[in-house]
Amino acid sequence: MNAIQVKEAHDLRVAQLEMPTLKNPTDVVVKVKLAGICGSDMHIYHGTNPLATYPRILGHEIAGEVVEVGSDVAGLVAGDHVVVEPIRYCGTCYACRKGRPNVCKELSVFGVHEDGGMREFFVLPARQLHKVNAGLPWEEVVLAEPYSIGAQAVWRGKVESGDFVFIHGCGPIGICILKMAKLAGATVMMSDLKPERLAFAKANGADFVVSPLEEDVLSKLLDVTNGEGANVVIDAVCLPQTFEQSIQMASVAGTIVILGFDERFSQIPQLPITKKELTIVGSRLQTNQFAKVVQLLNEGKLKENGLITHRFTIDQAQEAFTFVEQNPDTVRKALIEFS
Ligand SMILES: [Zn+2]
Ligand SMILES: [Zn+2]
Repeated sequence: MNAIQVKEAHDLRVAQLEMPTLKNPTDVVVKVKLAGICGSDMHIYHGTNPLATYPRILGHEIAGEVVEVGSDVAGLVAGDHVVVEPIRYCGTCYACRKGRPNVCKELSVFGVHEDGGMREFFVLPARQLHKVNAGLPWEEVVLAEPYSIGAQAVWRGKVESGDFVFIHGCGPIGICILKMAKLAGATVMMSDLKPERLAFAKANGADFVVSPLEEDVLSKLLDVTNGEGANVVIDAVCLPQTFEQSIQMASVAGTIVILGFDERFSQIPQLPITKKELTIVGSRLQTNQFAKVVQLLNEGKLKENGLITHRFTIDQAQEAFTFVEQNPDTVRKALIEFS
């Protein structure tokens, strides 16, 4: 069978591998239908993901069909449509005991620390698979993982109905956060440098959009919130400056959600944190968000609505990665389709 493998940094190829088989009674064999290409896949390809080792089969945004289940698997049968929850964890460390297995000390992410789902077939334990309604189009369900990232950011920000949420950045993750924040009942304002991205955010439910190139973001935010600021600021741009701005933009008793991996320092004074009693939290991968996302998909409440812009076959893997890299303004989410 074929797999999209990064042999070493900068060397992407379609590799021929043996068909995987059931090893444990809790395992499931899945035939892949669609895989999303994510920024983190690009980082593994370019050798800029410090967590990845090589050779590595990419892919953590995966939708497919069950072909075989182990003897101890309950709740899944051949023919079921599933999405992959890409985290594997120890179950006993502090994070796992606290119900936060996404930051497990033994964390292994499908397609990052271990081989992922950009291959015709793979095997995973049943607990990493979530069944979705078989009537849903594959291109809707393949977005379950990116939606789970949005759901996590909204959960970490404790976004509630009536909250005013500000999201830095209208890229694919910003849009997924937007969708989850709107479903939580928030009013949402978003920023981006690109007019077409701002327009897409508006079309997907953003109540207000602002370009830092055209307006002072903080003044506009204070304007529309009667001077209060945003109850939750979620930073999907992840620069030292956006973190600094977020502190200013947050309302009293507000929360700031950080998703960045930037190692550069931000200059954050203590006064506004204490005075406004701010909460600053990180948001990484997801914890227990798949059930919620799958339910929303099944209910038809999460629609891609233009988020998917490009599709490639597995034979076009190199072309796909080159295209995604060279066209950041036109590609929102690109998919690899498996026959
Ligand atoms: Zn991703
Ligand atoms: Zn653990």
